[in-house]
Amino acid sequence: MQKKLGIMKRAAFTLLCAAGCLGLLTATSAVFFFALGDSGAPEEREDEIPAEQAAAPPASSGSLVLEDGFVQPDDWRLVLVNFETPVPSGCEPELIAVGSVQVDKRIEEDLTAMMEAAAKEGLAITLSSGYRSTERQAELFQNAVEENVELGMNLEMAETVAAESVARAEYSEHSTGLAVDLNGVLETFDETAEYRWLLRHAHEYGFVLRYPEDKADVTKIRFEPWHFRYVGAEHASKMRLLNLCLEEYLLYLDAQTGGS
Ligand SMILES: [Zn+2]
Repeated sequence: MQKKLGIMKRAAFTLLCAAGCLGLLTATSAVFFFALGDSGAPEEREDEIPAEQAAAPPASSGSLVLEDGFVQPDDWRLVLVNFETPVPSGCEPELIAVGSVQVDKRIEEDLTAMMEAAAKEGLAITLSSGYRSTERQAELFQNAVEENVELGMNLEMAETVAAESVARAEYSEHSTGLAVDLNGVLETFDETAEYRWLLRHAHEYGFVLRYPEDKADVTKIRFEPWHFRYVGAEHASKMRLLNLCLEEYLLYLDAQTGGS
């Protein structure tokens, strides 16, 4: 919390401006550029949050800029990997297998505790994917591009569309070992009791829904109900309370510590 993040001044300024436009942004956040018709996520997520807190810092502004001069936070749990921020060089997590899926060993305890807690309520949370090497990610991206080309897109369009759902090599947070895909990577996962349980409890175990439907304009990734990211319970709880995705949360922390 107190650590200096070093995010560029322009980004922090953008956050403050965005906070000032809160009411308008909240009112307009129902516009989802990459929405695919799934629904239910925002309502579920807000069910335990007081209205005045749920509506606190910026909703989706669509103008957050982190790239120039961005320095990774000095907290391994908050490492940012997104469409414009590659996996930091030297990021080679120590891996451990949970079932047949590998993850950063530092998240194993919380991950298994979360799955066990759900199981006690009769809910089966299963791991479909965890750590991926950048080479594996490159294969996945290439496969998605080729599928789009077969659908008739030119290469540029095929890559652009692919990037909305499959990160390019070096740009997937699966390569950090801190992200997991759950329960078969199904578009309809948000209609399940398991998903609803995760929205209520994942933060207690340090996990956040990384690509919410109402943050697609910030994350540049369409709604992925199956993809959860470990950030630790303290950060996850704050992100949930304030309705911030990781990009927004890093700017929020930077503003809190006087980074602007
Ligand atoms: Zn994923």
